[in-house]
Amino acid sequence: MRYATGVTILKIAHIGNPVLRQRSRELSREELALPATQAFIDDLVETMRAANGAGIAAPQVEHPIRVCVVHVQKNARYPYMPDIPLTIMVNPVLTPLTSETFQNYEGCLSVPNLRGLVDRFTRVELAYWDRHGAETKTTLRGLSAGVFQHECDHLDGKLFVDRVHDTTSLTTWADFEQFHKAAFVEQMTALVAREGG
Ligand code: ZN
Repeated sequence: MRYATGVTILKIAHIGNPVLRQRSRELSREELALPATQAFIDDLVETMRAANGAGIAAPQVEHPIRVCVVHVQKNARYPYMPDIPLTIMVNPVLTPLTSETFQNYEGCLSVPNLRGLVDRFTRVELAYWDRHGAETKTTLRGLSAGVFQHECDHLDGKLFVDRVHDTTSLTTWADFEQFHKAAFVEQMTALVAREGG
């Protein structure tokens, strides 16, 4: 769908599409500066917003380059999640700052109607270029750290289902609401209070 502003909502690849299973390639600063790449980043952000995603990675729209975006603002899919400002990451490198993990009930725009429990580090450092190629470094905690780990996984061809150890945690979204949400939100509220994110 192309809007008058020139932004396009891109088609999201679903699990089974090989593009989700390959390692995406790094971008050079020259390629990043191209108008086509900048327009693609705008499209990626709008595609995430249109799908109510907390984040999206370029391979999810069949573009296997190392670009991903995160934005959480009163998210309808994840109402318990703290807000995260729009973050556009190019060639991100993620480093855990602790061996401590928490269990996150994740979902994914590329895995329709499924959620499952995944271990994520509670604190990570993320080094990346912003959309203009400027080097940036940030520390993320708690649930917010989980979102960035999920998006960076996409760039290496990994989906959250690969990290689900306890397959009895797998649930549809409706059944998550009915059977798992209350306990999970309680745990996440405690995590966010403790970690500040
Ligand atoms: Zn995903």
